[in-house]
Amino acid sequence: MTSSPHPSVCLGIDVGGTNIKTGLVAHDGRVVASTVRPTPQGPEAALAVIAEMFDGLLRKANVRREEVLAAGIGTPGPLSPSKGVVYRCANLDGWVNVPIRERLAARLHLPVVFDNDGNLAGFGEYWAGAGGRFGDMVALTLGTGVGCGIIIDGRILHGHHENAAETGHMIVERHGRPCPCGQRGCLEQYASAAGVAKRAREEIEAGAASVLRERAGDLAALSSRDVAAAAAAGDALCRRLWQDACEYLAVACVNLQHLVNPRRIVLGGGLAESGDALLLPVREAFTRFRWNLADDYPEITRAVLGYDAGMIGAAGWAWETLARRAS
Ligand SMILES: [Zn+2]
Repeated sequence: MTSSPHPSVCLGIDVGGTNIKTGLVAHDGRVVASTVRPTPQGPEAALAVIAEMFDGLLRKANVRREEVLAAGIGTPGPLSPSKGVVYRCANLDGWVNVPIRERLAARLHLPVVFDNDGNLAGFGEYWAGAGGRFGDMVALTLGTGVGCGIIIDGRILHGHHENAAETGHMIVERHGRPCPCGQRGCLEQYASAAGVAKRAREEIEAGAASVLRERAGDLAALSSRDVAAAAAAGDALCRRLWQDACEYLAVACVNLQHLVNPRRIVLGGGLAESGDALLLPVREAFTRFRWNLADDYPEITRAVLGYDAGMIGAAGWAWETLARRAS
């Protein structure tokens, strides 16, 4: 066998409600090979699929097993990174009290690090994306909910009970919309892709005028992309909801500035696919809402890794953990 052009890599694994994404990632953040498979039912089946995907990656990239130094895996929570246990998984049936780190290590014969998918997506952006491995950073993923990772001094912020960075459930409206989490007025009810689509659906069902009433024959399928397109075309309802989402995000950015004082706040996920149509109004509102006692404001930028952020972050966190153990 010829020697591999990639002397060593870490395996990154991102387990989502729909897909499992895996990749071999070099120390500089380069993805040597990656693959995606649908998420099967239950943790045992998922572990078997991950083991198959790992073998497939080694063949695809012509990497020898001993050249893979460690693996990182991210899942939805609640979970405990320190204990290596998934308590439950939002959107994943059968994942209850799974000692995922131990089981994956036994299957792959590798050291394994484990964390929340939002934390790892944030770390991915810090390590190989918009963060540039420099300074404190917050990443927000605006998708089904609002995922968040907070990186301080190059490390993921976990907090005492390991539930830090739940920025999607930051209350931005005291008597606001109910959230499945039990609170009211959570950021993700206003500024996630799903939240924006849901608000548009509700307003149209309640009789509000909008081009989406005719365009979306099936209101249940209405997405934040439809809202963004209609807002860009001048639809009054969609413009209002879009502006609202941007302003709530700006409120969150001001609050994050005061809590974390990050160098960058990075926006990714479905809503950020709109690019400047999201970024510019968020920055404008941030400028209106922020304090004037100092001028060290964070840059608000777009995420660059897309849906690979979690997988790359999982591998990056494995690399980081190895480096810290060695030092
Ligand atoms: Zn909530």
